Amino acid sequence: MFVKVEIGDIVRMRKKHPCGGFDWKVVRLGTDIGIVCLNCQRRVLLPRGQFNKRLKTIIKHADAEE
Ligand SMILES: [Zn+2]
Repeated sequence: MFVKVEIGDIVRMRKKHPCGGFDWKVVRLGTDIGIVCLNCQRRVLLPRGQFNKRLKTIIKHADAEE
């Protein structure tokens, strides 16, 4: 499964972060995807394959912002 994400996108993961948050902002793209938890601001790097597996949905695309 190929998921296209861009920096600034808000994504929802299948699994809850220990802090209780589900939503993350994409801050880095590459072999690893960097995401920041919107609830606790913690930054995490995930290999793309793992990111794709954990991703539930893209809530908001960066280019959709006003
Ligand atoms: Zn968190």
